[in-house]
Amino acid sequence: MPFPIRVCVVCHEEFELRPGKPGFANRCPACSQPEEDAGGAHDAATVDPGAAKEINAARRAAMRNLLYRKDS
Ligand SMILES: [Zn+2]
Repeated sequence: MPFPIRVCVVCHEEFELRPGKPGFANRCPACSQPEEDAGGAHDAATVDPGAAKEINAARRAAMRNLLYRKDS
C-alpha cells in the first residue's frame, strides 16, 4: 500500500509520509533528523550557507585545540 506523498517544507522534496516516521509530518526524513548543531548553526545555514561553514570551521578549530591540549 503506497504511503501518502508530502512535500517537505524545508527542502521542498517529495517524500513518503510513512506511519511512525520520526520528526515532523511536513518534513522529509532527512530534514527531520536532529541537527548536530541544534539551534544556531542550523538557523545560520538557512539564512546564509557560508555562515554555517564558518561556524563549523570554528567548531573544528576549537575541537582541535581541545584535543591538542589533552595530548600535551
Ligand atoms: Zn526535506
